[in-house]
Amino acid sequence: MSSINRKQMLSLVDKYGAPLYVYDSAIMRANYDRFINAFDVKDLKVHYACKALSNISVLKLFKSWGAGLDCVSIQEIRIGLMAGFESNEILFTPNNISEEEFDLAVQLGVNINVDNFDMLEYFGSTYPDYPICIRINPHMMAGGNRKISVGHIGSKFGISIHQLPLIERIVKSFNINVAGIHVHTGSDILDSEIFVKAAELVFSVVDKFDSVKYIDFGSGFKVAYKKGGLATDIEEFGKDFSDTFNAYCQNRGRDFELKFEPGKYLVSNSGFFLARTNVVKQTTSTTFVGIDSGMNHLIRPMFYDAYHQIENLTNPDGKKKIYSIVGYICETDTFGVDRQLNEVRKHDILMFENAGAYCYSMASNYNSRYRPSEVLLHEGKDYLIRHRETFEDLVRNQPNPKF
Ligand SMILES: *Cc1c(COP(=O)(O)O)cnc(C)c1O
Repeated sequence: MSSINRKQMLSLVDKYGAPLYVYDSAIMRANYDRFINAFDVKDLKVHYACKALSNISVLKLFKSWGAGLDCVSIQEIRIGLMAGFESNEILFTPNNISEEEFDLAVQLGVNINVDNFDMLEYFGSTYPDYPICIRINPHMMAGGNRKISVGHIGSKFGISIHQLPLIERIVKSFNINVAGIHVHTGSDILDSEIFVKAAELVFSVVDKFDSVKYIDFGSGFKVAYKKGGLATDIEEFGKDFSDTFNAYCQNRGRDFELKFEPGKYLVSNSGFFLARTNVVKQTTSTTFVGIDSGMNHLIRPMFYDAYHQIENLTNPDGKKKIYSIVGYICETDTFGVDRQLNEVRKHDILMFENAGAYCYSMASNYNSRYRPSEVLLHEGKDYLIRHRETFEDLVRNQPNPKF
């Protein structure tokens, strides 16, 4: 990171306080353009998976760049509609939700992904004309982490590809309009081979339904968290995949719309989390840096063993030393072990990289702490896009009965 950016980050801390999330729209835009340009197919729509970072201002930018949206809850759909997305640009890919939530999604007119037989029959009997998409589980083990690996045999997601005959029977008996076939094999997929294999399986499902208009291959693109870390080679993937996809279209003698739903790929490296150090504590074995934040603000290191690059912004020329960076929560919340940082002093500002995806969106009020503010850098200006919470936010929904 250049010194100008370092100064800019510190000036944002001066202006908005810490802890603070900062997002750079230019990085999001570059990721989006790079993704789009990697493919050579007739009809491509990229639906930003907004659970990664669901701030309405971020959604508005993706809308302005021509993206669609992928939502996993009715609330995300409503945020998407507020941000200006048309309902037909929104995909709804929920898991184990109620009939009521499906009913609301139908009322809002979004594209719905059905991932179990119960719901398939519910749609067939309740909304026989409503076009739906079926989420298939191809049973491919993929992804670097069991919690985010969603395509394998024991996974709760999708309808098993081995149950295709049953899907066909239900679709036929209710005369269901199958507009799309969906597969999302899991996060952290490194090579394009696995996608191409999944594609062959998906095509065998698409073969069965003449009504299909779009094929949605979900996401799972890996980004580098460590400097020089492994990441999906999107250009290579795009080329291989386009060839496979175009060959299938040619084979069928018709076109299909190709959809993807990247979240992490589009926003991960656009985000930076800034936090102040409260304590530098030497124990017999370790030098701990205790920051004014914790797993309530950034849980990925504790939840997924995720690695986030950490840098001391306020002492760039300090001597490199080894630290363990920990939070203020009353259980072990470790951001990084044995990290080399420029000497850390009390009140220094640390910056965590790759803080765009699944960071703020997974933040909580654990320990009755406030969630931090979010700032967006866009075309040379900084915009406060979420206020830091206040004490009123914490107690707002708690009636205070007289006992
Ligand atoms: C989470 C999710 C995504 C996005 O995954 P990333 O790894 O962030 O790209 C896409 N589609 C569905 C259905 C998801 O649940």
